[in-house]
Amino acid sequence: MRLRFLGTGTSHGVPVVGCSCAVCTSTDPRDSRYRCSAIVEGDGGEVVLIDAGPEFRVQALRARLSRLDAILVTHAHADHIHGLDDVRPLTRGKPLPVYASAPDIREIRARFAYAFMDSQAGGGKPRLELTEIAPDGVTIGSIKAIAVPLLHGTRRVFGYRIGGLAYLTDCSAIPESSMELLGDLDLLVIDALRLRSHPTHFSVDEAFRIALRLKPSALLLTHICHDLSHAQLEDHCARADLPFPTNPAWDGLEIDLP
Ligand SMILES: [Zn+2]
Ligand SMILES: [Zn+2]
Ligand SMILES: [Zn+2]
Repeated sequence: MRLRFLGTGTSHGVPVVGCSCAVCTSTDPRDSRYRCSAIVEGDGGEVVLIDAGPEFRVQALRARLSRLDAILVTHAHADHIHGLDDVRPLTRGKPLPVYASAPDIREIRARFAYAFMDSQAGGGKPRLELTEIAPDGVTIGSIKAIAVPLLHGTRRVFGYRIGGLAYLTDCSAIPESSMELLGDLDLLVIDALRLRSHPTHFSVDEAFRIALRLKPSALLLTHICHDLSHAQLEDHCARADLPFPTNPAWDGLEIDLP
């Protein structure tokens, strides 16, 4: 199985429109962060997308994406679903299953109402098959994904566990019942917005505290804002000296997993 990061930035993306800070004007390509999204490729060739943010089209082109078997939605915030229309070229053959919570399905249906209305043939619309994810998860070929309930401020959202991978973007608390779903991880990917605390996202040190409880084999940070450059965050991770490799993720990073 392979994980590919399509975007690792917070809701504004980095650089932030109108900002001229050192990170937003950095020439390090790792300081350019599209909105959060990732692809999981299964050993059977299946391709599952986690979230379709506003940059989905350019992310898909950059990743040379030519196939999609399903989308797993973490939650219906704009930075995670507003690229849903752009999956259209990959839904020509058959409708694309989109898995989400029941409240998020209602939001997607409202936000993309035109996609679910009858209209003339040829009126370009993505063929999305909205499906509430079952409590025991969903199987897409060789990929078995389990929704992990998280809190994003007061909003209930999902992370996903796929084999030894846990992908937990957009969260500020993890219920104890969900911590139980997160044992024996090969890789924990977790929200770490910035050093300062935030009402709806883990700070870097809060993310470290969760990781110290879960003890994954490796830790990667995502949903990163423009407070720190990649190099500065890398330094902060090294200084924390956690008992497992710890790094910020970056757009384009690929990780092979068992
Ligand atoms: Zn977000
Ligand atoms: Zn900036
Ligand atoms: Zn969010």
